[in-house]
Parts: sequence; structure tokens; C-alpha cells
Amino acid sequence: MTVGLDTVKFAEETIELMERMGVARAALEGGTLAATSPNTGETLAMIKEDSVEETSAAIGRAHDAFKEWRKLPAPRRGELVRLLGEELRTYKDDLGKLVSLEAGKITSEGLGEVQEMIDICDFAVGLSRQLYGLTIATERPGHRMMETWHPSGVVGVISAFNFPVAVWSWNAALAFVCGDSVVWKPSEKSPLTAMAVQALYERAAAKFGDDAPKGLLEVIQGGREIGETLVDDKRVPVISATGSTRMGRQVGPRVAQRFGKSILELGGNNAAIVTPSADLDLTLRGVAFSAMGTCGQRCTTLRRLITHDSVYDALIPRLIKAYASVKIGIPTEEGTLIGPLIDKDAFDNMQKSLEAAKAAGGTVHGGQRVMADEYPDAYYVQPAIVEMPGQVGPVLEETFAPILYVIRYTDFDDAIEIQNGVGAGLSSSVFTKDMGEAETFVSVVGSDCGIANVNIGPSGAEIGGAFGGEKETGGGREAGSDAWKAYMRRATNTINYSGALPLAQGVKFDV
Ligand code: NAD
Repeated sequence: MTVGLDTVKFAEETIELMERMGVARAALEGGTLAATSPNTGETLAMIKEDSVEETSAAIGRAHDAFKEWRKLPAPRRGELVRLLGEELRTYKDDLGKLVSLEAGKITSEGLGEVQEMIDICDFAVGLSRQLYGLTIATERPGHRMMETWHPSGVVGVISAFNFPVAVWSWNAALAFVCGDSVVWKPSEKSPLTAMAVQALYERAAAKFGDDAPKGLLEVIQGGREIGETLVDDKRVPVISATGSTRMGRQVGPRVAQRFGKSILELGGNNAAIVTPSADLDLTLRGVAFSAMGTCGQRCTTLRRLITHDSVYDALIPRLIKAYASVKIGIPTEEGTLIGPLIDKDAFDNMQKSLEAAKAAGGTVHGGQRVMADEYPDAYYVQPAIVEMPGQVGPVLEETFAPILYVIRYTDFDDAIEIQNGVGAGLSSSVFTKDMGEAETFVSVVGSDCGIANVNIGPSGAEIGGAFGGEKETGGGREAGSDAWKAYMRRATNTINYSGALPLAQGVKFDV
């Protein structure tokens, strides 16, 4: 079957899904922003874009909402997030399907993304009773010193296309229980999932009642220009921006310029080290999922495999075989493991990197476009393995596509140096049964990444841990552990109940 530019396969289904989740059909027609499915290249809907003025007005509404919301006790705020989690449970299948249609994820990954949203809601509900401050020993008699955490204000969330809804929830669930309001600018490549989430939020807010002020969640749709409006607005004390390092280089200094705080979640160039003692069956499965899953479009995708000489020949040919046999196709079809790249730019970048790898002495297996006859406007590719003579050329950068560079090593310390020898510092792994190697990898002289795993690939984190990375990944942390602190401001309070006025550090100042 050959279908041309006018392929329409998912548009009607998309609109039905959106309507079920509470988005009016009228909001999906007549706008200027095309929502496209990478699965076929077809236009799913035409939605309205927000202007700079409308963005500013949305920030104003969110700011007003914050002033009310902050007064509610945190456990009560948690109740709204609990209700949001309930809506997500009810509409998990619909939203998961929409993620597959708009972002090209296979069914289990689309559903997995919604599960992650449910999990962070549960986490945040518990957190709403645990926003602990400290009581601190004071040097002055008759005094008490303590630390109080207060809400920050409006949190601006800028998100990427590849986790179109989960990233918002890592931020928003925490921000809401912390007493903040949220203005969300989703990727212009995935506007529909954001509209659906907003509709589900509105349902939760209606059940919560009048205590949820209008404007607590504002969604602004469009590209870089409105992103910049959000970034530059002084009424937004915290900007949480997820996307490429290129975007972070623009956003970070702009937020710093006005002394705002930023949580930057940027690109990764993640590696795994395969040591002589590694369980190769487990390694093969771990590597295959981490490197090919989501068609190589996860920030935590495995991109560099640093393999010991002694296991190279036992592992790499098997991996090349697995790569050649993996099922590529429409992500919602039974058995598909690899969906499409997001668009033509992503495909062109992949081909450019493969050419550069060849020029640098690499041997490329796979990487070619597939299914082009059937879907000329969609970009499906055979995932690529590239055997490299060393860590050179495109290996040093993140290419957001399924390319796995394989590099040999002989000495474990060298392997760690190779692992750490790139700009990004998000996720990393070692496959080993040697305790010394495992402990070294997670120690102070080991991986320099925000995530360092043993016998698990670098991809697929749980929400309980703080998520994020170092160096060019931006240094931000989201989701679990004490990541909530980035959404609040801290005050140190000293209370004098002594009736005297002893000064700190023994200073005498009698007037
Ligand atoms: P992108 O950088 O092109 O866009 C991300 C978002 O930033 C979009 O909403 C975009 O409109 C906005 N944006 C771009 N420039 C801006 C500017 N100057 N001011 C304000 N907003 C701006 O990224 P993408 O292609 O959507 O996503 C892929 C990238 O995201 C990869 O590099 C991936 O590693 C990264 N990512 C990182 C994480 C993480 O948690 N570290 C998670 C997901 C994706």
C-alpha cells in the first residue's frame, strides 16, 4: 500500500480521545499550530497559538492564583494532586494512546508515561505532609532558630516533545503541593497531550471545589517566542526547562540575569561499560532496551557502549543481530518495539552523524530509513550500531536518534575516563559482577553523572529518586528525594523569648 501526503489514519481517533478527556472539538480546528503524528506525518489537529500578550496575561492569572493557593495548608493542597492522580488512573488508556499518536511511543511506553504521572501524584500527596524544616541549635540563650519552607510563586515549566506529559507532572505535582502555581509551555511538537492533561486537571479542580483558584494551571501553546516571554518574566521565580543543551544555554543565562532560579534538565550522552565479568545475556537485554527504546529519543538513551576487549566478540555480533531483527512499525500495533523519529529534522541529523562517524573511521551497521514507501511523510529508521576506533567526532555529542557507538577498552580506569569524557552528565551504567568495579563506578572516582547504575541500563528511572544530571545536562533535579526544595524558598527564623538581647558572635553594642 502506498499512501501519499494526504495520509489520514489517526486524526479522527485523536479527536475522539481528546473529546473523551474533556477537550472540545472546536479547540482542535481552525488554529495556526499543526499537531502532527510522527507515525504517519498526518496533521491531527490545528490548534490556537498564544501570543506574547496572551502569555503575559496567563502569567498574571497564575500569579493571582498563587497568592490564594499559598494560604491553603499543604495537606489540603495534596488533596488536589490526589484527585488529579485519580483522573489520570481513569483516563490512563486514553492519554497513553494519545502519547503514542502524538509522540510516536509504543503502547507500553505511552501507558508507562501516564503511570509515571500517577506515581508522582502519589509521591506528592505523601510529600504534602512532609515539607519538613529544621530546628537548629542556636548559640544565644533564650532563643530558638528554625528553618521554614515557603512556596516560591509561579513555576514556569518548559517541556520537550519526547516526554510530553510525564515531565510536566514531575514538576507540577510537586509545585502544587509546595503551594506554587504553574504556567506550562509544552513542546510545539506535542501540544495535544498538554491540552488533554489540562482538561483532566480541570476535572480534578472542579471536584476539589472553590479552593482551587482559577489560573493555578495555565497552558500556553507555541514556540520559542512565548517560551522566552515566560523565561524573562519576573513574576516567575522558578523556571524548570527540559530540552536540549542548546535550549539550556539560552534559558539559563536569561533566568540568571533577572536572578530567577532555574531547574535545567538538558541533553544526555549516556554510556555503559561492559566489563569482563558481565552477565552478557542480561547486558544484551539491558543495552537493547536502553539504546533502541523510544527510537533512541530519551534523554537517558544509551548512546555509547564501552566494551572490554575480552567480551567484545561475544557481545557485539549478537547485538548487531538483535538490532537487525527488531520490529519497527506503527507504535500502536501489536509487537512493535521501535516507532518513528519525531520528524524529518531528526532523521537528517541522524544521517549527518552517521556520515561523520564514517568519516572518523567508524563502521556503521543499520541506520537506513525504512517504511518510506508506505509512509513517505513519517521517518522510521533501522537503529544503528557504529563500531568506532575511539571516542571522537559525533560520539562526543548527543544525536537524538537510535545510534549506539561501540568503543573498546582494556583498563577499567580508562573506561571510566571515556565514560566521563563528554560534555553531558546525565545517566550511566556498568555491567559487572566484580564488586570492586561496581563500587568504584558509583564512588567519588567513578561516574560523574547524576544517575549511575549497576547491571541496569542508563534508561528508565523511577520517580522516587531525584532525576537529573551534571555538566551540560544542567544540574537540575526533579521528581523524588528532596527535589521539592527547588520549588520553595527557605527562610531562617530566629525567635528571642529571653527578654535580653544577646548578640551573635559575642558582639557588644550597648547604646
Ligand atoms: P528543544 O530544546 O528543541 O525544545 C524543548 C522546549 O524548549 C520546547 O518546548 C521549545 O519550544 C523550548 N525552547 C527552545 N528554545 C527556547 C528558548 N530559547 N527559550 C524558551 N524556550 C525554548 O528539545 P526537544 O527536541 O523538544 O527535546 C529533545 C531534547 O530534550 C534532547 O536533547 C533530550 O536529551 C532533552 N531532554 C532532557 C530531559 C532531561 O530530563 N534531562 C528529558 C527529556 C528530554
